[in-house]
Amino acid sequence: MDRSRALAAAVAAVGEAAAVTRTVQAGIAARSERVLKNDRSPVTVADLAAQAVITARLHEAFPEIPVLAEEDPTLLRDPARSDLAAGVLRAVRLVRPDLDGDAVDRLLGLGGAAGGPRGRFWILDPVDGTKGFLRGQQYAIALALLEDGRVTLGVLGLPNLPLRPGDPTGPRGVIAGAVRCHGAWLRPLEGGRHSPIRVSDVSDPRRGSFCESVESAHSSHATTARIASRLGLDAPPYRVDGQTKYAIVARGEAAIYLRLPSSPGYREKVWDHAAGSLIVEEAGGRVTDVHGRPLDFSRGRELGNSGGIVVTNGAIHETVLAAVRAELGRR
Ligand code: AMP
Ligand code: MG
Repeated sequence: MDRSRALAAAVAAVGEAAAVTRTVQAGIAARSERVLKNDRSPVTVADLAAQAVITARLHEAFPEIPVLAEEDPTLLRDPARSDLAAGVLRAVRLVRPDLDGDAVDRLLGLGGAAGGPRGRFWILDPVDGTKGFLRGQQYAIALALLEDGRVTLGVLGLPNLPLRPGDPTGPRGVIAGAVRCHGAWLRPLEGGRHSPIRVSDVSDPRRGSFCESVESAHSSHATTARIASRLGLDAPPYRVDGQTKYAIVARGEAAIYLRLPSSPGYREKVWDHAAGSLIVEEAGGRVTDVHGRPLDFSRGRELGNSGGIVVTNGAIHETVLAAVRAELGRR
């Protein structure tokens, strides 16, 4: 298949969706006092609208490739939630005035692909890091292509990420991407030149700052703190939502991303790792489970791996894995 055409379609689709999510997030900020802590509807508008917009572009360019996406249209069909359907349609029409409510419903209905070891699938998380999105912080629009169980292309839209590491007051908004065997890059969300990215070159884990989820319910902060201490890492963790963490490791801002289960029975979802893991690998890093095995995207909507995820710049991977195993073995 023509991967450069696939990459161009994916980047265009993610860029279009970012315009939608930025508008919705700005609306949340503007009426922050009225958004109750557990009011999920603004994020639902953003999720569903971004998923519809991306699916529309992908389906127009590659009608033969099924879409495996996080959201489904059930909520929109609830007559009691007609306000939600209207909000989603308004958001979609910011960038796709040609689509109507039936089209949105049909597009969202296309997202239920099962995935698996054979064939091609798009894997989509339209707003990854919904908690960060609601807090007005980081989130990612994550899109990947799976071919015969392997991720071959990944794109992350990061509307709030500072363009330059360590420059939080500078310009924000990044798209990062990778095609397998062709390296990883990023560029401003608005457009411009692709700059190749590389992981950090630290070979001493004590100098390799680490990142993790903001939400301790998604990754155990207590466990990662003990692992950091085993590694002699003094710097506090860089906590950030969604697959932003993969982009941060890929561009060398942190050398380690640890995700260790807080809830024993939870199975990681493929859309939370597909795009980001390829970008890190193509930037020279490594992504494995706690046993050192590559992530298994061939099992459907959930990852084959369980027990946690270890992401590093590659050079320190074995050292970090040894510390993770020692810590998990202690329990
Ligand atoms: P993060 O922003 O890295 O914490 O990841 C956000 C993602 O965590 C969401 O997209 C969810 O799919 C996923 N998630 C939800 N519950 C859990 C859980 N108990 N453990 C790990 N990940 C979870
Ligand atoms: Mg997610």
